[in-house]
Amino acid sequence: MKTITETKPLAEIMKLLEKHKRIHLIGCGTCATTCHTGGKAEVLAMKEQLKAAGKEVTGWMVVPTTCDPLTKYALKEESEAVAAADAILVMTCGFGVQTVAAYSDKPVYPGLDTMFIGWEQSPGRFIEICIQCGQCVLGLTTGICPVTRCAKGMLCGPCGGAREGKCEQQPEHDCVWVLIYERLKKLGMLDKLTDFVPPKDYSRMKIPRTAEVALP
Ligand code: SF4
Ligand code: SF4
Repeated sequence: MKTITETKPLAEIMKLLEKHKRIHLIGCGTCATTCHTGGKAEVLAMKEQLKAAGKEVTGWMVVPTTCDPLTKYALKEESEAVAAADAILVMTCGFGVQTVAAYSDKPVYPGLDTMFIGWEQSPGRFIEICIQCGQCVLGLTTGICPVTRCAKGMLCGPCGGAREGKCEQQPEHDCVWVLIYERLKKLGMLDKLTDFVPPKDYSRMKIPRTAEVALP
């Protein structure tokens, strides 16, 4: 599982940074490195782009996992270069950006757009498989999510529009209900398709959500 990110257009980044001259750069050694959006190579490339645009880069680092609270120690180790900066450009998912913001009193800006939580279907191709809906229905389908992977969020079976196994709304994707049917058939569980599906409680997706975890 990875948080999938895309690099923001350079013009947008420059607009975000327009009031700042000295910039510190932070990348992430986990998801953003896998996506080639915020690993060492991308951070160094951004450094050159900022310099070419007249900015001064006071320092850079790729934190092992930027969304982890240990990031505060990475910021401490880099405190001199961070202190010399007017702002920090964080090339991570939104979680990483907010983690840096929580431990820094500098203005913090995102260098990436956070897209979705994805699964690597084939090398370099990620697919969204869970939107964290708060009421998992994978038991209905034995493990393939229609909430995320059906363009219409159909819970009770296909819409009927699929063509040659592809979704009518997004033909680049398989119709998830064809995948679910094939899986149930293989498992000898096609009778699941006649199960009553209760209405889904979409209030479980209201944001911001909180969770209380029982501590030992
Ligand atoms: S039903 Fe789908 S979106 Fe909801 S929690 Fe399960 S996998 Fe995630
Ligand atoms: S074709 Fe399949 S995946 Fe696409 S909207 Fe209809 S049921 Fe959902």
